[in-house]
Amino acid sequence: MAIAEQRLSALHQADPELASLLEAELDRQQYTLELIPSENVASPAVLEAVGSWLTNKYAEGTPGKRYYGGCEFVDQIETLAQERACALFGAEHANVQPHCGSSANLAAYMAFCQPGDTILGLDLSHGGHLTHGSPVSFSGIFYHAEFYGVSRETEQLDYEEIRRRAHEVRPRVLVAGASAYPRIFDFPQLAEIAHEVDAVLMVDMAHFAGLVAGGAHPSPVPYADVVTLTTHKTLRGPWGGMILSPEEHAKAIDKAVFPGAQGGPLVHAIAGKAAALRAWGQPEMEGYAQRVVANAQRLAQGLLQEGLRLVSGGTDNHLMLIDLRPLGLTGKAVQEVFDRARITVNRNSIPFDEASKFNPSGIRLGTPAITTRGMGLEQMDEIAALISRTIHNLGDGAVEREVAARARILCEAFPLPYR
Ligand SMILES: *Cc1c(COP(=O)(O)O)cnc(C)c1O
Repeated sequence: MAIAEQRLSALHQADPELASLLEAELDRQQYTLELIPSENVASPAVLEAVGSWLTNKYAEGTPGKRYYGGCEFVDQIETLAQERACALFGAEHANVQPHCGSSANLAAYMAFCQPGDTILGLDLSHGGHLTHGSPVSFSGIFYHAEFYGVSRETEQLDYEEIRRRAHEVRPRVLVAGASAYPRIFDFPQLAEIAHEVDAVLMVDMAHFAGLVAGGAHPSPVPYADVVTLTTHKTLRGPWGGMILSPEEHAKAIDKAVFPGAQGGPLVHAIAGKAAALRAWGQPEMEGYAQRVVANAQRLAQGLLQEGLRLVSGGTDNHLMLIDLRPLGLTGKAVQEVFDRARITVNRNSIPFDEASKFNPSGIRLGTPAITTRGMGLEQMDEIAALISRTIHNLGDGAVEREVAARARILCEAFPLPYR
């Protein structure tokens, strides 16, 4: 812990209680196999930007048009982030202020919809996100939400079904994107469907933005009217969101972000986004997105060989879903056992799940974080075997301890970049 103490020297002095909790969390991250597909490991450069004095600055407005003085440097920081986002994704406009993916989606809807308008998105239990129309989210409270799902046979999107639903409900916004969908999206098809019904195509690439950045997933940018994303998932940046669009929608989107959905921007987070975006052009990121996908496919192959069932039979991206139903298990107990075995996964609904949302029948896992740590195909084979052993011996304390010891050895061989 000596290095963490050095890193947190001021906090140790001012607040030892809090400092020790941060240390404990670093220790947990250091020695746990992180398989939650929405998590990643931000670089030390990103952490420095986010942990800086930029947090002192108010900068409501946009670069050059602020409501506060003293913005000459934060203007340059935000412009840098915008330019890097546009260059990386080939977009005409980038708003880098959304505090997170949900705020980006809130602003995107506000830019195109009136309250009560219809939005059409992927059903949450088929892999969609809360902000795509769930009744407990602003998206389902302020808008009239309709849903499409995956096909029962293939467990993949059926574009004819999306087309049928779009013609039936005539949405103002067709939302594509997901939190738990292991396959590639067909953006030309989605754009065609949206145009047929005069809808706006909104693509939420929160999960796969890094795969798009690295060329391992097709880009929605040429096809969508608006693209939202998070910066903390596969993109390997700080906590945050972003909105990309053609120039024609720039004004509406900027206005929807501020003053529509947010107050002052988190300038320190924007600096972190700028640092993360720059890294994508650097040798350190070369091949990262491809390795994430190759690792996910190898892990999936290993799990299938161990006799586990995966939703849709595998993966094309960074994540996969284990169907626990054939084993007679549910997600909550399995997630808890994995916690003890030093492997972090999350329970998740799977398509046509009859179990409750709180204890669904799936386990979602992915490779972005372990790939950032440098793990490769050989480690995927071992992790698949560890997962299978754990699942097939649920409740066996000795197996849990053995798996935990192996997980720790893997983590020690591929340390976090914080030392
Ligand atoms: C993670 C995610 C979001 C937003 O998440 P925040 O937690 O608000 O940053 C939005 N859409 C999808 C599809 C996501 O996976």
